[in-house]
Amino acid sequence: MRVKAVIHLDYFKENISLVRAKIGKNTDICVPVKADAYGHGAYEIAGVCEEAGVGCLGVAAVQEGTELRKKGIKLPILLFSQPSYEEIPEILGTELIPFVSNFSFADELNAQAVSRGAKIPVHLKIDTGMRRLGCEPEEALSLARHICGCKGLKLAGTATHLAVSDSADAGDRAQTERQISLFNEAVNNIKAAGIDPGIVHAANSGAVILHPGAWFDMVRPGILLYGYDTVSAGKASSGSKDPYEPVPVKPVMELRSVVSLIKKIKKGESVSYGGTWTTCEDTFIGVINAGYADGLPRLASGKWQVVISGKTYPLAGRICMDQCMANLGVEHDVKQFQEAVIFGGEAPDAGVLAERIGTIPYEITCNINKRVPRVYIG
Ligand SMILES: *Cc1c(COP(=O)(O)O)cnc(C)c1O
Repeated sequence: MRVKAVIHLDYFKENISLVRAKIGKNTDICVPVKADAYGHGAYEIAGVCEEAGVGCLGVAAVQEGTELRKKGIKLPILLFSQPSYEEIPEILGTELIPFVSNFSFADELNAQAVSRGAKIPVHLKIDTGMRRLGCEPEEALSLARHICGCKGLKLAGTATHLAVSDSADAGDRAQTERQISLFNEAVNNIKAAGIDPGIVHAANSGAVILHPGAWFDMVRPGILLYGYDTVSAGKASSGSKDPYEPVPVKPVMELRSVVSLIKKIKKGESVSYGGTWTTCEDTFIGVINAGYADGLPRLASGKWQVVISGKTYPLAGRICMDQCMANLGVEHDVKQFQEAVIFGGEAPDAGVLAERIGTIPYEITCNINKRVPRVYIG
């Protein structure tokens, strides 16, 4: 294979156990499998989730949910994004559980559910500061009442989303605690009115690590289960981090390629497009079968390296669409077609690569292209 993404389902399982150990028996897990499970393969990850007995899955696109259903996944599936009204029949057909942020969507869902003689579970979404989906906290009770008055709807859950929960910075922690208390207040108002809010949930990965007060009945950690502690990476540069207890998860994805060709170049010669890198001595160059079309960011040109049988070699020149070049040095013992690890495993992981180029591990793993075969282990 020219390049492959090795996916350690065994590590994913271990990461679920680590999160479970952290949150305790009374809190369930919703596993976000949107964006093809952050690039890891939604169907395969969902299979592990079913085995591991997690509470539900989360998708962003209706079509992502439909695909999982077609392949036989039975777990409840939450729909994290606001769909269009045209997508409602598919939502009902594949039994996705949508978030409801306003009265008009509740009405439209209700009308279509009633016309099919169905009563479908929905989760009330409350905006406590993310300023994305959700109703205003002051509206939450009346929207909950409205949902309960809809013959075709059942209030099965109440949720919010946290904006800065993965920052250990004191100000960001305080901001998250404010969101949690706004959410608590809204949920308590609903309960006080005699309405069952269903499954109450708020925590993404950051809150699983830093904010026990956000765990409620269920947590929704994505990146943490895929093996990255973004609290330690994220805002490291802000310098004002308060202590916390990390969760020792293992990165689930490794990107592995091969040295497709080795050649000797002369002192003063440049490598790759733009001639941005010039060797100051005669050296050997290894052509690696991975480029930005595979998901190795072009911005990593000049900033990354590969590991070949335990030794590290810097990339030389620009990363191309399908290939990149490594400087093997004046002398080397690399053989043609030997494996070159780009990230994960014996090489630094996608979180380190992300930090190096100013992005987040989410973007690195999501961007591993479809043409890169996933090889599943465990
Ligand atoms: C993606 C998503 C999550 C998971 O976020 P992580 O930062 O990966 O833990 C949780 N909740 C919602 C609503 C999401 O869209």
